[in-house]
Amino acid sequence: MPVVKIAFETENCSRCDGTGRYSYNPMHGRMCFKCKGAKRTLTQRGQAARKAYDDAVDMYCGVLLWEVVPGDVIWHTKANGRKGWVTVRSVRKDAHEPEHAALTTDGQGGLIPFETRVRLWRPEVLNEIRKDIARLHEGATITE
Ligand SMILES: [Zn+2]
Repeated sequence: MPVVKIAFETENCSRCDGTGRYSYNPMHGRMCFKCKGAKRTLTQRGQAARKAYDDAVDMYCGVLLWEVVPGDVIWHTKANGRKGWVTVRSVRKDAHEPEHAALTTDGQGGLIPFETRVRLWRPEVLNEIRKDIARLHEGATITE
């Protein structure tokens, strides 16, 4: 099921003036740490819409890790280290830490408490949430 895309209102980063770079420091090199090199940051309206969106997704797509089964698609860490949707391969009780799940996915896995709240890929729900947020908030638009 295709899911509409939502975009949050951004503006040129005020710290680096939209270049993504700033004066050198040992921790970040020349990358601007405000926008993390992305050149743009959310406007106030964009931030408000983003928060409302995150809250809605957590509420309607959030489950505890112990409810997750192999084949579920969850918002977690991809193989390249970025956050994204990954497919769960296995989720088992860890032999040494029974409060923790040994999670494997097609991205990165890990030893994670069963009580952790994760986002489950629910396309029809995400579509509704995105359309609602874009309708109710000036800082968000549906892009396709
Ligand atoms: Zn910047």
